[in-house]
Amino acid sequence: EDIRVYEFAEACGKSPAEVITVLFGLGMMVTKNDFLKQDELEILGEEFGIEVTVKDALEDANYVEDYQEEEIDESNFVTRPPVVTIMGHVDHGKTSLLDKIRSSKTAASEAGGITQHITAYTIKQNNQKITFVDTPGHAAFSAMRARGASVTDIVIIVVAADDGVKQQTEEVISHAKAANCPIIVAVNKMDKEGANMDMVKAQMAERDMTPVDWGGEIEFIPVSAKTGEGIDDLLENILLQSEILELSADPEAKAKATVVEASLEKGRGPVATVIVQNGTLRVGDNIVCDTTYGRVKAITNDLGKQVKELGLSETGRVLGLNEVPVSGTIMVAQDSDKEAKDIATTRAEHARAKELSKSTKVSLEEMSGLIAEGKIKQLPVILKADVSGSLEAIKTSLEDIHNDEVKVKVIHSGVGGITESDLILASASEGCIILGFNVRPTGAVKSKAKADGITINTYSIIYDLIDDIKDALSGMMSAII
Ligand code: GDP
Repeated sequence: EDIRVYEFAEACGKSPAEVITVLFGLGMMVTKNDFLKQDELEILGEEFGIEVTVKDALEDANYVEDYQEEEIDESNFVTRPPVVTIMGHVDHGKTSLLDKIRSSKTAASEAGGITQHITAYTIKQNNQKITFVDTPGHAAFSAMRARGASVTDIVIIVVAADDGVKQQTEEVISHAKAANCPIIVAVNKMDKEGANMDMVKAQMAERDMTPVDWGGEIEFIPVSAKTGEGIDDLLENILLQSEILELSADPEAKAKATVVEASLEKGRGPVATVIVQNGTLRVGDNIVCDTTYGRVKAITNDLGKQVKELGLSETGRVLGLNEVPVSGTIMVAQDSDKEAKDIATTRAEHARAKELSKSTKVSLEEMSGLIAEGKIKQLPVILKADVSGSLEAIKTSLEDIHNDEVKVKVIHSGVGGITESDLILASASEGCIILGFNVRPTGAVKSKAKADGITINTYSIIYDLIDDIKDALSGMMSAII
């Protein structure tokens, strides 16, 4: 069960101050109304020489309940299409590949003039379906998995044939391996002069990703997102891998779908893009999705057409939730609207109680104050920028800002939008703030940051960013002097 600092103190006959002092000494800032985390409880247990048993929080129990399959009846199982994620180093052609596959496999009449890039879509190859999902990055991919939503069956790692393995390629390899699903390497930009398949194979083999024709297990498919070369091979390969996986699910079960993106749309309300993992999601279904709930009012498929239902591994945009859900959460159909509402409300109450205890997450100004009081020795930041050039420049400038008492610590930096995985990382480091340069959080990320009490500051001028951070630190300088 969750326990607050003062409750814990009471339970072991100490004063809240004693408890707070112990944690302060270890750099963990809590106030007496905060809920204690498991690691903090363990530390306190050791410190006070008492035994602390940590039971599952009620909230966790609630989550688990939904993720468990009810009455699995394998006799209803049918083969389901694979869900594929493409990841790779920036500029290696992930977006181009996703767009090319979609456009070359969608009849012009069907596409109905849809040209814009979308989060998820389903195509047919030899009359077999494949669903592709675009994740904002490999960190987001893993954050989703951390939340229990492993929507991906097969990972495609895209590597540009003229550029080879880069830092993010290496990160992607680790994330994909951790996900424990089959990997296919798409060697892209084969149309370019300087494309070198063998170089890519050699670099990948060095990283334990040995090609099949070199005696390993990984398929390397030469492709070009520009000319469309190799796309059929890639799709055939996906189908082969998918056959080996024997993916199956029950189309008659209560619908369960993963939210891959969600936003608030003018005139339509909350819209969630989902991929169905089990069952069939129908218009009229009562649904619950983390702390949000509702009844499916309408579904539009990936071609923008209204449909009555979404089948296994299919994707579409669902209208009818009362609020915007966080991506990575799982939408589950319930028997009645009352049930859906009750589950969501209980979770929301829990979330609210936690939010009230979030006094350790602070704004830049408050941070400056805490630094002034000598309570903080470093200002942890997460830095995101639109291009690697500015990222490196800002990172270097930030790490230059320091003095004897305090310094800036960039705990993570990356090219790309501010995502939920940044929030996860920020909430794991006391007092961490997120800085964005020419990038912004999506609506869902923004509202989650607000709910979690995490500060996100975005800038379009480097000096403004640097100045803000300097001010935060020098505010403390003058306060000390
Ligand atoms: P992402 O960052 O991985 O999503 O990469 P993009 O899809 O945005 O592609 C980066 C750049 O490479 C763009 O300018 C694309 O036009 C270009 N590009 C992508 N695929 C190919 C390809 O197969 N051949 C050539 N010549 N250029 C490509």
